[in-house]
Amino acid sequence: MNDNDFSYGDARGLPYRATSFWLSLAGEDVEDCARDERGVPRNPLLAQALPSPAEARVAPCELSDPLGEASHTIGNRTVRQYRSRVLVRATGECFLFCRHCYRRALLPSERTFISDKAMRDLTEILRAHEEVREVLISGGDPLTASDEQLRRLIDAVRAVPRRILIRLCTRAPVVQPRRVTNELVELLAASRPIHVILQINHPKELSETFLVRAESLAKAGIPLHSQSVLLRGINDEVSTLVELFSSLSINGIQPYYLFQGDLAQGTSHFRVPLSRGLELYSALRRELSGLELPRYAVDAPGGGGKVYLPEGIVERRGDLWILRAPDGSLHEYPEES
Ligand code: SF4
Repeated sequence: MNDNDFSYGDARGLPYRATSFWLSLAGEDVEDCARDERGVPRNPLLAQALPSPAEARVAPCELSDPLGEASHTIGNRTVRQYRSRVLVRATGECFLFCRHCYRRALLPSERTFISDKAMRDLTEILRAHEEVREVLISGGDPLTASDEQLRRLIDAVRAVPRRILIRLCTRAPVVQPRRVTNELVELLAASRPIHVILQINHPKELSETFLVRAESLAKAGIPLHSQSVLLRGINDEVSTLVELFSSLSINGIQPYYLFQGDLAQGTSHFRVPLSRGLELYSALRRELSGLELPRYAVDAPGGGGKVYLPEGIVERRGDLWILRAPDGSLHEYPEES
């Protein structure tokens, strides 16, 4: 295996991992929680965390690499899907393995932290491509690493003599708030410009503990954004989404994206039909202010980038939606699967 190789395993093999903090927020017994007819927990937090028999079903349209990252890989754990941005997968480790994760087939094979060599390669890539303005430090969850590991990765970006915006993509402040220590806040503040990109899917995730840590990041000059995923049975009601996005906004966290579910293997039970998603978004546009309203989008299946909804819809052909990606390519997205 050379440095740029990585392997997608069986998406059904995503281990179970959750924090006691998250389970306490759920407020329901894990062993005895109520489940629907597919075996999926009815509790919106437990549904994101507990494996269910529904994951065994892989729909024909589902992919092990739903965003086509393999074809955009330019270095070990380094992906370039857009001209101005590079994404690096720091680790496949997470505090909570979200059952709907689109990288669920990849995470188990990347649970170590990115190597020093891969970091040096990242610096070289950034030096060679002056047009790259942003680096997304993603994973897995990069905050499962130690401050020292994170510092080395940030230093690899900062070794390039131009201002590059870092986006740190993490659920840690929400699922393991104690990870946001004063030392971590200082490290991030010293690494600006840096934005923290969270994923918050339900109003119950906005705990007091999280909000205190979020405020410490904001006070240190670190903007916070949330990319929420539209999830069946979890947040696919207008009232839930209005509460989620208005609460994010009033707490200083920008509602950045509402993502239509990706075609990751074993996740069809989480996907909301696109027609329903469009109805919900239409209602949100009436209910929410401009500050509260995220962009509704879907990653083009198989690659091509983010498609804004409804703008990127070309037409509906029966049970298929035809989407135009930013690179002009056309992609099929199923109404239901
Ligand atoms: S924290 Fe992010 S990378 Fe980890 S399982 Fe959840 S969605 Fe996937």
